[in-house]
Amino acid sequence: MADVDSHEFRFQCPNCGGELRQTIRRLKASEHMTCSGCHVGINIDTNRLANAADEIHKAIDKVPSEITIKFFR
Ligand SMILES: [Zn+2]
Repeated sequence: MADVDSHEFRFQCPNCGGELRQTIRRLKASEHMTCSGCHVGINIDTNRLANAADEIHKAIDKVPSEITIKFFR
C-alpha cells in the first residue's frame, strides 16, 4: 500500500492561487515552504497536518481540505 509520508498534498497558494504540491514527508521536515509561483512564504499548521496524515491513513483517497495555511514573513 502507499507510503503515507510520500503522499502528495495539493493546495492553492493563498496569494497567487497557483497550485502547490508538497509531500507529507517534506511538510513534516520543515514547517514552512515557499510558493514556486510567487515565492511567498507559506506556513503549514503541523498539528493539523498530523491529523491530516492520520486521516489519510484511514482513507488514502480522501485528502482533507482543511489544512491551515498561513503566510509568514
Ligand atoms: Zn503563490
